Amino acid sequence: MPLDAVKIKDLHFSYPGKTPTYQLTIPEWRVVKGDRIFLKGASGSGKSTLLNLLSGILVATHGVIEILGQDLCMLSARQRDRFRAAHIGIVFQQFNLVPYLSVYDNIRLAAYFGRKKQTGLDLIVKRLFTVLDLDDTLIARQAAGLSVGQQQRVAIARALVNAPEILIVDEPTSALDNDLRDAFMKILLDICSIHQSTLIFVSHDAALTHYFHTIVNLSEISQT
Ligand code: ADP
Ligand code: MG
Repeated sequence: MPLDAVKIKDLHFSYPGKTPTYQLTIPEWRVVKGDRIFLKGASGSGKSTLLNLLSGILVATHGVIEILGQDLCMLSARQRDRFRAAHIGIVFQQFNLVPYLSVYDNIRLAAYFGRKKQTGLDLIVKRLFTVLDLDDTLIARQAAGLSVGQQQRVAIARALVNAPEILIVDEPTSALDNDLRDAFMKILLDICSIHQSTLIFVSHDAALTHYFHTIVNLSEISQT
């Protein structure tokens, strides 16, 4: 079994286009399994781009990105989707819920694509809802009808439902007030400890750094 959750070597990425503007270059970066990384950096420095590369949503121009020992470049788009569903939980700034589905179906879909056993799903959802301070009555509601803060918490519940080995989280707390933010960090870290998940967490909120083992500035690992 590989010891690294993430292993990057000579990564180059630029967005396609005639006049390439932004380039991300990371000569080498490793994240040991079980680590909790707080990833920071100036706005526009490429944090979200890196998270999309780690999730296999974007593909490196060249270089190697290994996730749990799997080289993402060796996978087709479809295989990457499957790999992501099975191993990675993602919470992005835009929470990407399916708007016309119910809250429950949004979460059930993630469990289904992750191919985890669905037995006990109701219990897991209930527990996540309790800790995230979401009312049970929201479960049957259409996702589009929820407030921004509620949608964000549902997105968090959805990302956690498969107890993923790697959690990738991009600026998740912006729509949460302080109490909720701390409740959110607690459940996130609880779940990471129980399942020994690796956490890669991007935020501007310096008040959260004490929750993390490792603080990385993107500028320390990338070249310009
Ligand atoms: P951060 O998350 O650190 O604020 P991003 O990864 O969002 O930074 O953006 C890094 C750079 O890539 C920025 O210059 C941004 O304008 C550019 N960028 C982001 N998304 C795209 C895209 N889809 N197409 C072209 N350029 C993009
Ligand atoms: Mg960003």
